[in-house]
Amino acid sequence: MQSYDLVIRSAVNIDTGKICDVGIRDGKIAEISEKIDSRGKEEIRAEGKILSPSFANMHTHIPMALMRGIGADLPLMDWLQKVIWPIEKEFVSPEFVRAGAELALLEMIRSGTTLFLDMYFFEEEVGEAVKTAGIRGGLGFGILDFPTRVAREPMEYIKRAKEFAKSMKEEEMIFPVICPHAVYTCSPGTLTMAKELADDLDLYLHIHLSETREEVERVKEEYGNTPVLHLEKLGFLSPKVICAHMVWLSDEEIQIVKEKGVKSVHCPESNLKLASGIAPVPKYISKGMHVCLGTDGPASNDNLDMLEEVATTAKIHKGNSLDARAITAETAFRLATEKGFEAVGIKGGRILEGYVADLILINTDSPHLQPLYDPLSQVVYSAKSSDIDTVICNGKVIMEKGQIKSLDEERILAQSREWSEKIRSKL
Ligand SMILES: [Zn+2]
Repeated sequence: MQSYDLVIRSAVNIDTGKICDVGIRDGKIAEISEKIDSRGKEEIRAEGKILSPSFANMHTHIPMALMRGIGADLPLMDWLQKVIWPIEKEFVSPEFVRAGAELALLEMIRSGTTLFLDMYFFEEEVGEAVKTAGIRGGLGFGILDFPTRVAREPMEYIKRAKEFAKSMKEEEMIFPVICPHAVYTCSPGTLTMAKELADDLDLYLHIHLSETREEVERVKEEYGNTPVLHLEKLGFLSPKVICAHMVWLSDEEIQIVKEKGVKSVHCPESNLKLASGIAPVPKYISKGMHVCLGTDGPASNDNLDMLEEVATTAKIHKGNSLDARAITAETAFRLATEKGFEAVGIKGGRILEGYVADLILINTDSPHLQPLYDPLSQVVYSAKSSDIDTVICNGKVIMEKGQIKSLDEERILAQSREWSEKIRSKL
């Protein structure tokens, strides 16, 4: 008889709507059937709960959680230049990054995210927090042209990014990523150095691209090309490039992105809040582009809730195109799960044998989830992340019945309040 590390019993499978048992071994889904006879070392009874893959948040800056709620109702460039960069100049330190990352990790676990792609500074602090939290992180040290508290010039950023990447290379749950910030904050020389570093270490590149119309105009003026063409000319594009936003692509750019196998991360709520626009995602998908979802940083969203992002994705494109099938509940859901894992080469984001056991259980014992006819569409359109009851990552239970096992929630919330007092005094 097969033995399992963990068996989940009598859950409602989000894909089929049927009751199933799932056996997990060595971090992977080993069996899905109506009834598993053998016992697991650990067992979870899941009657009345929906079993779903966990979420992949493929673009964020989690330490910015400490700046959540500052600078509301500004467009991107004003928000960055007048609000965010001055605060970062004053406060960003290893301690700030650690405290912000811990707060964000609590929020991500509570809302069912087990994989995220992060770009910030002092990323080694994010790495330490992620190790304790027990989820997966693709982490990168942000690279810029201008001086900040962390580096003075591009070579120094590249050096920091390289040291960080080397220090994380052997981690099981963390993979380093190379993160030049954007084409309007990195010169062609900086972008080329970042690309060479990523190639040398065989790592993904993660960059903001074509986020606002203003960015497209600026890049055209400065380099005579739109952002995607600019990167293409530099030899930057490949299947290992993950671009956040891509709101303003031309048909020619869509074709290049598709041909080069570049991945696009749709961040609808950040794009709405910063008035950046609505990426034509139904068109991108129909043209064969790889699209996944992200929240962007918690200061521009203003949360890390992927379930909200899924619901927004499903609704915004219907309203925008007057087509109720423009993005279905299932498509939006797959962008936030399977497509995210796939973007970084992890076989996950599905309830299928052989896939990584990154799973959540959603409690349906609440008025807004009854009656339950269609689990997938009701998770997208009715569920709230507070309905998420259990979170499993790599076969390990990191939250059970609403209790996070890996992090001290009380300490982290108290620490966040202390930071907010310091930051408030400088606003
Ligand atoms: Zn961003």
